[in-house]
Amino acid sequence: MVLTSQNRQEIGEMVELGARLGSNAVRFGHLMPTPETAMRGLDLSPQERLEVEAEIWRLKESAPILVAMAPGYFSESALFPCAPLELQELNLDYRGNVTLCCHLSGYSGANDGADFMGNLSEISFTEAVNRSRAMVAAYLSEKQAGVARGELGQTDHFPCWYCLKHLDKVSWLKNFPNHPWDDQANSIPGRNNDDARSEVSTSSSSR
Ligand code: SF4
Repeated sequence: MVLTSQNRQEIGEMVELGARLGSNAVRFGHLMPTPETAMRGLDLSPQERLEVEAEIWRLKESAPILVAMAPGYFSESALFPCAPLELQELNLDYRGNVTLCCHLSGYSGANDGADFMGNLSEISFTEAVNRSRAMVAAYLSEKQAGVARGELGQTDHFPCWYCLKHLDKVSWLKNFPNHPWDDQANSIPGRNNDDARSEVSTSSSSR
């Protein structure tokens, strides 16, 4: 279930429905903010995301079926280990394009080529994998450096949001000055996650 401002009240009902229908699991995921979702008022704010995540983690403890979340939820670790960034997954779309990640595939914001490795009609899969490895290495290196300099803000701990920013896909935000993910309005009350420097030095030494 993709979480939006319109269905955030239905999380418990969805788990109950899944259990009643005999499902093994229910998986929730955050909606990636785009101009379209902004126009339709579907985006949860950072604070609202934390609230629905808390509800999901509570349900995970008590529900009769497995309850999980797709990558994109708040992570205390600035270097969230999703499958694409662990080099365990690539995305192949219906046109033969190899891209970094299914969460970014077909993203309707700006700079849609930033996560593009190539098309399998023009390059081999081996070449696509090699390009992906190089891109992920550069990405992680830049992120580690950014954390070490204390540049990551609170919302950067939502890893897929960080990816959108890192890949320069959120320039559309300037058209939505009061959008909840606008940098000017995105602090999370009661949270201070800027000091992740020690985590980077630990993570760097273990890689
Ligand atoms: S958008 Fe980025 S952080 Fe999210 S799953 Fe994809 S590669 Fe990982």
